[in-house]
Amino acid sequence: DLSGASTDPADAEASAIGAAVRAQVEAAVDEADAAVLVADARAGLTEADRDIARSLRRRGVRVLVAANKVDGADPLGAHEFAALGFGAPWPISASHGRGMDAFAEALSRQLAAAGGEARAESGEGEACAGADERPLIAVVGRPNVGKSTLVNRWLGVDRQVVLDQPGTTRDAVDIPFGHRVLIDTAGVRRRGKTVGMVEKFSVGKTLETLRRAHVAALVVDGALGVVEQDLHILQHAARAGTGIAVAVNKCDGLTTEARAQAKLTVGRRLAFAPWIPVYYISAQTGAGVARLLTALDGIHAAGAFDVATAAVNRVLAEAIQAHPPPVVRSRQVKLRYAHKAGGHPPTIRIHGNQTEALPPAYRRYLASRFRDEFQLTGQPVRIETTSGANPYAARRNELTRRQRKRRDRVIRHRRGS
Ligand code: GDP
Repeated sequence: DLSGASTDPADAEASAIGAAVRAQVEAAVDEADAAVLVADARAGLTEADRDIARSLRRRGVRVLVAANKVDGADPLGAHEFAALGFGAPWPISASHGRGMDAFAEALSRQLAAAGGEARAESGEGEACAGADERPLIAVVGRPNVGKSTLVNRWLGVDRQVVLDQPGTTRDAVDIPFGHRVLIDTAGVRRRGKTVGMVEKFSVGKTLETLRRAHVAALVVDGALGVVEQDLHILQHAARAGTGIAVAVNKCDGLTTEARAQAKLTVGRRLAFAPWIPVYYISAQTGAGVARLLTALDGIHAAGAFDVATAAVNRVLAEAIQAHPPPVVRSRQVKLRYAHKAGGHPPTIRIHGNQTEALPPAYRRYLASRFRDEFQLTGQPVRIETTSGANPYAARRNELTRRQRKRRDRVIRHRRGS
């Protein structure tokens, strides 16, 4: 409205700016990953600010409000911009450089979150097991611990007829099982596995299976507990990124006393990895086998690591507050913000400074905090770190769909003129 019908200068300003702003916002924001609404804290909240906010809201873009010209006098003046509805405003002084670091970090976090969305939209970053891929479950362990018995118990007696079909000589054949697939390392399908026959243990085969599986049950013999070879399998699983649970089998054969003893020794041997859950079962009687399967399903589901960036950052901030990273050789490690880098296994990438000096113990601490907060029991949570002021510099060439469109348009425009 440029007719000047209103005599209120604020209204005149709003209407004059209104049309121009709408055009500007529409042109710019459709291609942006995030928008910064810069407001004048000295002037206070104006109708023009509200107008811009309305336009931005219609575009559905992520918005940060920078309350500028907060030169130290009254940072409280910035708060009234919260009324724009984009969260707490960031008090800055662009001319004095005040508040810019915190604001830049907040903006980076928004971009990280927007980047994640853009990748999800375009189907990128789905290398790690897609959501509709069937869970691959493996049963591993030393010979004679009861792997075949467990698999047969799960599959049910009827299935054994099918599985007995001749001609199946391959080592591992996948068996569809409900919504999942069992990787048959136990040789359930192998012709001629006779009762009492002891398989040869193959580390290579076990490793290969662990790499392929989303989740594995490591079966151990309750009478023997967790032995050295089992620990190696667990380490391999953690390294391969496989979710894992330990199944202490043959519990039917244990006296109450022996069972208590088994719990004690298993607990002690697994003390190095308190995140690995332990289930006591009898594959022969079927006790606990359904619960074990439910647990494996749960571990698989948790492995997708379906979390919001804001939640990841909240947990990081709380972890740091409870227990700040140590100063290593007079270097102060700074962890600034984090986001999900992948699932299967859950992987968190933390951006900061001097992160290469972060001690392994602190990484383990962070992993356990994330595991507790996001219920990732059984998952070998990974913490990746990146140092440097601009984590996006390395990704300069990876344009989002919107950025590609913009680039193409600019090129066309230049050619045209
Ligand atoms: P695998 O080599 O790991 O596949 O072990 P098997 O399933 O072939 O079992 C080895 C032996 O342990 C067989 O004689 C089974 O009957 C026995 N076994 C398996 N599970 C149990 C169990 O829960 N309790 C008892 N008492 N024996 C079991």
